[in-house]
Amino acid sequence: MMTTTKTEIEIHRDYPLAALTSWKVGGLAQWYAAPKSIGALEECLAWAERSGEPITLLGAGSNLLISDRGLSGLVICTRHLRGIEFNLAQGQVTAAAGEPVARLAMQLAAKGWSGLEWSVGIPGTVGGLVVMNGGAQGGCTSDRLVNAQTISLTGKSEILLPAQLGFKYRTSLLQAGDRIVTAATLQLNTGFDPQAITTTTNNFLRFRHKVQPYHLPSCGSVFRNPEHHAAAKLIEDTGLKGYKIGDAQVSELHANFILNCGHATSNDVINLIRYVQAQVSQKWAIDLETEVKMLGEF
Ligand SMILES: Cc1cc2nc3c(=O)[nH]c(=O)nc-3n(C[C@H](O)[C@H](O)[C@H](O)COP(=O)(O)OP(=O)(O)OC[C@H]3O[C@@H](n4cnc5c(N)ncnc54)[C@H](O)[C@@H]3O)c2cc1C
Repeated sequence: MMTTTKTEIEIHRDYPLAALTSWKVGGLAQWYAAPKSIGALEECLAWAERSGEPITLLGAGSNLLISDRGLSGLVICTRHLRGIEFNLAQGQVTAAAGEPVARLAMQLAAKGWSGLEWSVGIPGTVGGLVVMNGGAQGGCTSDRLVNAQTISLTGKSEILLPAQLGFKYRTSLLQAGDRIVTAATLQLNTGFDPQAITTTTNNFLRFRHKVQPYHLPSCGSVFRNPEHHAAAKLIEDTGLKGYKIGDAQVSELHANFILNCGHATSNDVINLIRYVQAQVSQKWAIDLETEVKMLGEF
């Protein structure tokens, strides 16, 4: 591994990405940086512009399938941008992009602030949650977002309102990849009994651990739910629970999860995704679209 600059930012060459994803698959980043401040992030953007390298953004890597062939250009990981500020008067919290969602949910619960209890089982960052319009148990990010603080790839800062972000089910305009979310402000309902909100939050987590496989690497739900259908039910009714290609397997517990049983490659996962899509399409004439984002060449 080579470090090209050692001032405020470190840009690494040929950096392994698999460990930075929840699926634990994928190849090397040609260049990789994980800035710890907005200043360092801006330096990374300037470096990419000077070098003519394309930029790919990574949060906690919990909704990504990265190709075994790796990614060209500069991968910027935002998980080290940290910090949480509570605005008591407004009942709002501003969290930096790299803050783990589950940790934020537990902190809000401990203050008796309600509104993000549903997010506790989501192993992503605040940045990734906003980009994906993540949600669970009937709640979703756009219901709570006051604004997103962003920087364009050319270094222009802008605070964007939900109406500018084109939120729909698990999508937003931020998925175009042309701006970086640096922080998000969310509206909560305050003044509840901390013990009660903590109990609700813990119950959500317990429920998730019962109905979803958390014991092996995955990306959560692989496919979006088609209108009027649950992807998991369609896959189950196609008889694919437990189906395996290489070391990637359709979960026996929740058929919309694909598990890395130990030594899966990205290629195993993509082949299984394509197989599931083909089988479901053949049986039900429904095309399953992926919720997980594919990065690189497959
Ligand atoms: C076990 C498990 C359970 C899950 N359950 C749920 C669930 O209940 N509900 C749900 O919605 N999701 C769920 N997920 C999926 C995933 O955790 C969410 O989509 C999460 O919001 C992704 O956040 P991340 O930080 O990991 O983003 P990543 O996976 O790193 O990135 C996702 C997308 O956002 C972009 N991105 C990331 N950070 C930034 C940033 N700072 N600025 C701009 N772009 C950025 C990436 O380029 C990519 O396009 C689950 C995943 C797992 C593994």
